[in-house]
Amino acid sequence: MRVAQLGSGTPEIAVVAGIHGDEPCGVRAVERLLDDPPAVERPVKLVVANETALERRVRFVDEDLNRTFPGDPNAKTHEGQLAHRLVEELEGCLTFSMHSTQSHAEPFAIVNGISETAHEVVPQLPVVAMVETSNFSEGRLFSEIRTIEVECGLQGSETAAENADRLTRSFLTAVDALPGDTVGRDLPVFRLTDVICKDRADTYEVFVDNFTEVSAGETFAAADGDVQVAGESFYPILMSPNGYRDVFGYAAEKTDVLTSPPAAD
Ligand SMILES: [Zn+2]
Repeated sequence: MRVAQLGSGTPEIAVVAGIHGDEPCGVRAVERLLDDPPAVERPVKLVVANETALERRVRFVDEDLNRTFPGDPNAKTHEGQLAHRLVEELEGCLTFSMHSTQSHAEPFAIVNGISETAHEVVPQLPVVAMVETSNFSEGRLFSEIRTIEVECGLQGSETAAENADRLTRSFLTAVDALPGDTVGRDLPVFRLTDVICKDRADTYEVFVDNFTEVSAGETFAAADGDVQVAGESFYPILMSPNGYRDVFGYAAEKTDVLTSPPAAD
């Protein structure tokens, strides 16, 4: 784990990259801040989490770090120990954690619940949606630390790295660590309701777009040609043929559209 800081004092804000070792976009954003440090108005902690997995270009060494929190100093796995150290490092910080995905090119935010902070900060980020994990947050960083996760774009893409940089600067501006104004936007909010499982197969297909409603009766995916049909309507989230080993992704309901308050004159 690499820890650095912008500005002096005890940070109450943190930016975390590399929770997953095969998602380099956030690391590039952090390195850019370190190469050319901006003058900050509040101290900011910068963390590159799973350096060993990043070096090996794998998602994790022993187990998925973002399913391992709170971790344990005596854990038998690399990620179990790392989770514990990361929680200690981020204690008391509002944390911005960057990921990338195989499911959706446009950035979106993932939060544990719609807190006042999420309500205020997320509509100021260049994201297309906010996803609330509700019951599906076990073992994730935000089960322990106040965290806004962002999916920056497609894993390994140049666009995801550029988005990570833009998202980080928007976040730091929204929390008054960087000067200037953010652009507010209307933001649809989704809540995860179900996991969409997939049977073991050689080939997987997904026929629908994330964040676009699937109607009851619509064929949305297939495993070795065996189709899955929606029993009731839902919004697919983080759906991709091969993004996860056991699941296609998640089903969600659309709960709200947040409108950002007009800028003060
Ligand atoms: Zn990730």
